[in-house]
Amino acid sequence: MNALEVDLVVIGTGPGGEALATGAAKVGLKVVAVDKHLVGGECPYYGCIPTKMMVRGSDAVAEVRRAAEVAGEATIAPAWSVVHRRIDEQATAHWDDTAAVDRLRDAGATVHHGVGRLAGPGCVEVTTADGEVITYATARGVVLNPGTRPAVPPVEGLADTPYWTNRDAVQLGELPGSVVVIGGGPIGCELAQVFSRFGVRVTVVQHGARLVPADEPEASELLEKVFVEEGIRVLTGVELQRASYAEGVFTLGLDSGEELVADKVLVAAGRTPNLDDLGLETVGLDPHARSLEVDDRLRVQDGIWAIGDVTGKGAFTHVSMYQSAVALRDVLDQPGAPARYHAVPHATFTDPEIGGVGLTEQQARDAGLTVRTGLTRLEESSRGFTHGPGGQGLIKVVEDADRGVLVGATAMGPAGGEILGFLAVAVHAEVPVDSLRTMIYAYPTFHRAIESALADLS
Ligand SMILES: Cc1cc2nc3c(=O)[nH]c(=O)nc-3n(C[C@H](O)[C@H](O)[C@H](O)COP(=O)(O)OP(=O)(O)OC[C@H]3O[C@@H](n4cnc5c(N)ncnc54)[C@H](O)[C@@H]3O)c2cc1C
Repeated sequence: MNALEVDLVVIGTGPGGEALATGAAKVGLKVVAVDKHLVGGECPYYGCIPTKMMVRGSDAVAEVRRAAEVAGEATIAPAWSVVHRRIDEQATAHWDDTAAVDRLRDAGATVHHGVGRLAGPGCVEVTTADGEVITYATARGVVLNPGTRPAVPPVEGLADTPYWTNRDAVQLGELPGSVVVIGGGPIGCELAQVFSRFGVRVTVVQHGARLVPADEPEASELLEKVFVEEGIRVLTGVELQRASYAEGVFTLGLDSGEELVADKVLVAAGRTPNLDDLGLETVGLDPHARSLEVDDRLRVQDGIWAIGDVTGKGAFTHVSMYQSAVALRDVLDQPGAPARYHAVPHATFTDPEIGGVGLTEQQARDAGLTVRTGLTRLEESSRGFTHGPGGQGLIKVVEDADRGVLVGATAMGPAGGEILGFLAVAVHAEVPVDSLRTMIYAYPTFHRAIESALADLS
């Protein structure tokens, strides 16, 4: 079959792939963008955006419930239909990517809904939604942005049950009476708290010893305390051994011998990279790898770039977008700063919200640094005190004592992800701790607690 000649093929249009394809097309490259589902990827349709609309709703419910303690009696009748309508109409346009496809086409790209696979160096085979197979030969190369899918733990019987993943959770028109959430990472915790605040009986089953294990242990501890106070059952360090479903009821057998019974089960137990069906073997790469190794220009090999979750540099939209800009410059042969990952930030939108940047204390110790840490509780700050209910949280800073700079930090509390901005600058720019200590911190803000955490460095 004759191959069509183009400059660039982008396989998978997550946030970064979409941006890169748009940028390359706008400067006149002949670009083909392929996505087997929706242009824009997981973030706008099933990830960040709809879940943050859920969080906004559940935060509003919580605030009304706290009002009695700070302003007077207020009542709310939480209505999931309001959240669902916002997601359906405003966030996802009924899970329709026409607007995104049009934007990409307007930029000059050819867009296919279909599966893209490498078919040897510089070559991509696209199987479109209606079964047509098109082969492209690329002059500049191929960008891989295939993202991830939910990982389903190998639990006996689970695969045969109608369990939910994040894709089901964001499309719900109605909530069930009870849910078991398998997985206590960021996705599981955000959704568990949302469901609970809307009246669902929630149990979180976490294989590991603590919730949000990628964050500092102090953050996990506080989150678990808040969850338990809110009525969420948290089971950590447990192993799920069996799952079954009959007559509308899930039954889950734990290693403790306990059987959990629930209306629904949400699997939020990590993600599997979509690398197994990309034709990686045709260019000498391992289709079973957990991630693709990239250099500081996002090159996997000559003529192949990878961006997003599959690079293993942080499964976040902002990482995908950051990499997209670096890779685009390389595709276009433009100069620019190489990718660096010493200050990757993240936010988990539980309440309290957890923002983290750079290394945790343990990661810094594992890296062999001379570590000093400082920690302060927000409820001990003036702002936390005046805030009252919901004002709990913490700031933790991790210093490389030899260099006198912060290499990591956590901001947990109301707007923890916003407070993080300050700390992200400090870690990114390696601002000397001595300099951070001479700053004036506005009183009585939450971020002023950073000064106390710095004073606690020991
Ligand atoms: C519930 C949830 C909440 C999240 N919340 C946040 C958050 O608050 N903040 C944040 O930063 N991140 C969040 N994330 C993570 C974020 O969604 C991802 O990091 C982000 O989407 C970037 O992923 P990506 O660029 O690797 O690709 P994705 O967004 O996963 O997109 C990959 C695309 O490639 C397509 N594709 C795959 N294989 C092929 C193929 N062979 N051919 C054609 N197309 C293919 C897929 O259909 C998909 O559209 C969340 C994720 C989930 C699941």
